[in-house]
Amino acid sequence: MAKHRFSRRSANRRTQLIGLTAALAAAAGTTTVGLASSSSGPANASGSTGLNPSQAEALTAARIDRRELGSRDASRIDLSLASTRKAAADAAAKQRAAKLAANASLAQRRALALAAAKAAAARKAAAQAKALAEAKAEAKAKAEAIRRANAAKAAKEKAEAAPRVVLPTTGYHLTARFGQGGSRWARDHTGLDFAAPQGTPVRSVMAGKVIQAAFAGAYGRQVKVRHTDGTVTSYSHMSEFDVSVGDTVKAGTMVGRIGMTGNTTGPHVHFEVLPGGGSPINPAPWLREHGVTP
Ligand SMILES: [Zn+2]
Repeated sequence: MAKHRFSRRSANRRTQLIGLTAALAAAAGTTTVGLASSSSGPANASGSTGLNPSQAEALTAARIDRRELGSRDASRIDLSLASTRKAAADAAAKQRAAKLAANASLAQRRALALAAAKAAAARKAAAQAKALAEAKAEAKAKAEAIRRANAAKAAKEKAEAAPRVVLPTTGYHLTARFGQGGSRWARDHTGLDFAAPQGTPVRSVMAGKVIQAAFAGAYGRQVKVRHTDGTVTSYSHMSEFDVSVGDTVKAGTMVGRIGMTGNTTGPHVHFEVLPGGGSPINPAPWLREHGVTP
C-alpha cells in the first residue's frame, strides 16, 4: 500500500518532471511524447486500491491537488519560458530592426555625403570656371586698355611729331596760283599769292629758324624760314620785317606785314615752299597735306 502510494507520488513527480522536460523541450523548440504515458496513471490507481470511499476520495483529492499544483507549476514554467522566449525574440527583432535602421542610416548618410561631395565639386567647378572667365575678361580688358593707351600715345606722338601748320595770313583772297604765266614774272609763277590789306600780319606757317630777312629785288622785303624737316618757306613783298636772321619762330609767329615792295601791283604776300631749300613746289597741295586749305 505504502509502496503503491509511493509509486503514485513517484508517478506524480515523474509527471512534474515530464511536464518540466516538455516545457524545456518546447523552449528548445522540440516536441515530447513523455506526457501521454502518465495521463492514465491516476484513473487506473483508484480502481485497484482497497480504500474506503472517503479515503479514496481524500487520496484522489490530494492527488488532484498535487497534480494540479504540478501542472500549475509546469504552466508557470511554460509561461515563464514562453515569456522569456518572446522577450528574447522581441529583443532579437529589435536588434535586427536597429541593425537594419543603422545600415539604412549608414547608407543614407553615405548617399547624402556623396551627393554633398558632388554638389561641392560642382560648386567648385563652377567657381573655377567663373574665376577663369573673370581672369580672361580682366586680361582682355587689360590688353584692350594697353592697346588704347598705346594708340593714344602713338596718335599724340604723331601729332607732336607732325609740325603744326597755319596759313601765312588772314582775310585774304588768292590772286595768283603756282605755275601761272604772266607778264610780271620772268618765268611761270613760283608761289601762291595771298592778297590782303596793307599791314595785315604775315606769319610763319610752321616752326623753324629765320634764315633770311632782307630786301630781295623783285621779291621786295623777304623772310625765309627753315623748318625742322629741311623745308624752307618764303614770304615776300612785305612792308616790314618783324624777325631777324637766326630767330626761332613757331607756327603763327608774325614775321612781317602785307606790303607792295618789289615787283607787285597790289598788296599781297608771295608765299613759296622750297623742299630742302631747293626748287619751289606748288604751295597749295603742300599746305593741304599739312592740314590747312588755302
Ligand atoms: Zn607771287
